[in-house]
Amino acid sequence: MITVKSFEFNYFSVNTYLLHDETREAVLIDCGCFRKEEELELSNYVIANKLTVTHLLCTHLHLDHVFGNEFVNRTYGLKPQAHKADAETLPSPQEQAKLFGIQDKIQTIPIGKYIVGNEIIKFGNSELLVLLVPGHSPGSLIFYNKKDGFAIVGDAIFNRSIGRTDLWGGNHDVLVAAIKDKILSLPDETILYPGHGPATNVIEENLNNPFL
Ligand SMILES: [Zn+2]
Ligand SMILES: [Zn+2]
Repeated sequence: MITVKSFEFNYFSVNTYLLHDETREAVLIDCGCFRKEEELELSNYVIANKLTVTHLLCTHLHLDHVFGNEFVNRTYGLKPQAHKADAETLPSPQEQAKLFGIQDKIQTIPIGKYIVGNEIIKFGNSELLVLLVPGHSPGSLIFYNKKDGFAIVGDAIFNRSIGRTDLWGGNHDVLVAAIKDKILSLPDETILYPGHGPATNVIEENLNNPFL
């Protein structure tokens, strides 16, 4: 059984997810911690729960979802994993920061491993199926666990909304088609944990999302 812990970090109120199972192996998804207090909140949770963090996964490479990568690299010795299309299309985090008017110094950790749709990521006794859901960014991924019935969906879909498509490589029609194909086709009760805002589930979004 996977425990899903969420944190809300940085200027953009990004949801960072830390998943672990009974083996205490853990996976970080979209580590957005930025201020010292945020780094401590995360590392204290890891220590208190005696977790071993084995993967740092990125749903996509927008700035708000990678702020904490340098901290994770320094603390747990991990490099981020993401889709190649984002790495090749999006400006560096430093350049994204400039465009958003952020003055702070941003350190970048190069991608350690490219991941693709339909790949399975294993940790402890658990696994996550990677699904490519492009449109918010060209390489946006979601991480689906069938057994416990949830998916970490990044900025593809939110509670009654969908991701913006006006940033690098975004495409509205591609996003809507990918959401219908890869997310709304999951079992109705599947919990969706988005990159911003509260969790939802497939049936709720099928019935009530005005963008779909
Ligand atoms: Zn995004
Ligand atoms: Zn975001």
